[in-house]
Amino acid sequence: TKCPRGGSFSEGKLVPFGNIEISPSAGVLNYGQGLFEGLKAYRKEDGSILLFRPEENAARMMMGAERMCMPSPSVSQFVEAVKATVVANERWIPPPGKGSLYIRPLLMGSGSVLGLAPAPEYTFLIYVSPVGNYFKEGLSPINLIVETEMHRATPGGTGSVKTIGNYAAVLKAQSAAKAKGYSDVLYLDSVHKKYLEEVSSCNVFVVKGNNISTPAIKGTILPGITRKSIIDVARSQGFQVEEKAVTVDELLDADEVFCTGTAVVVSPVGSITYLGKSVSYGSSGVGLVSQQLYTALTRLQMGLSEDKMGWVLEIK
Ligand code: PMP
Repeated sequence: TKCPRGGSFSEGKLVPFGNIEISPSAGVLNYGQGLFEGLKAYRKEDGSILLFRPEENAARMMMGAERMCMPSPSVSQFVEAVKATVVANERWIPPPGKGSLYIRPLLMGSGSVLGLAPAPEYTFLIYVSPVGNYFKEGLSPINLIVETEMHRATPGGTGSVKTIGNYAAVLKAQSAAKAKGYSDVLYLDSVHKKYLEEVSSCNVFVVKGNNISTPAIKGTILPGITRKSIIDVARSQGFQVEEKAVTVDELLDADEVFCTGTAVVVSPVGSITYLGKSVSYGSSGVGLVSQQLYTALTRLQMGLSEDKMGWVLEIK
């Protein structure tokens, strides 16, 4: 069977949040044909509503669909559906400064299959939920443990796309880390077991002086939209930013470490534990670079600073 392609998605409709009906033999339930995205809408003081680079989420979903043998909505179908969903749920968008509306697009193989094959039908849906600011009283550092046994991705696998199975793969290590008091897990590459990959739901950056490095996109980490944006913001602020293979040694020797993702924006890392030894960064754990980049990007996303890059889409 051929992989279904293209955007043959019919006109969508807005319905109240509730359960959906799905066949027990749906492709997503049996063979994991599922992708998702995550983005946020912010309300500005003047009442307007802002999205941040939604076409990037659309493009990432299309790339993921290609890997998962699924058709996907086009960039404009995706963005239009996000806009319509957000506008219809306008009353749930928190007031300026109080949080955002988290938007969760899902694409799944909803048609029935028995033997292993791509599903014959697909469903694209979006749901939203208000979320508070991730950091309520200033940034607070997270403590990560480097995972040396379990991996979230392997070369040639699906680590670079936002498919649902990647998240099931991290639950065990993440739960174990949380039970020991860590905030999350930092994964290593599965071949050499010495290069950094990413955290369960964010990308990682290492700061040394004026140099910032982050693992290059090579098929095993998610190409984060916050990651991509932070690289540009940091460069515009005079930092040298390199996308390369970053070793555990460089991590342990860093001045500062931070993670990036839609949920956290920029999250400072206070300590790293690797093979039983811990390293702490700075005295308060909130490095100046993390703070500076967090402020720059959140101000831009909330429409509080000039959008020189043309990243902010005003939808109302
Ligand atoms: N890596 C993983 C595994 C993620 O789930 C996320 C969250 N989407 C990220 C990185 C960060 O990506 P983004 O900046 O696009 O949210």
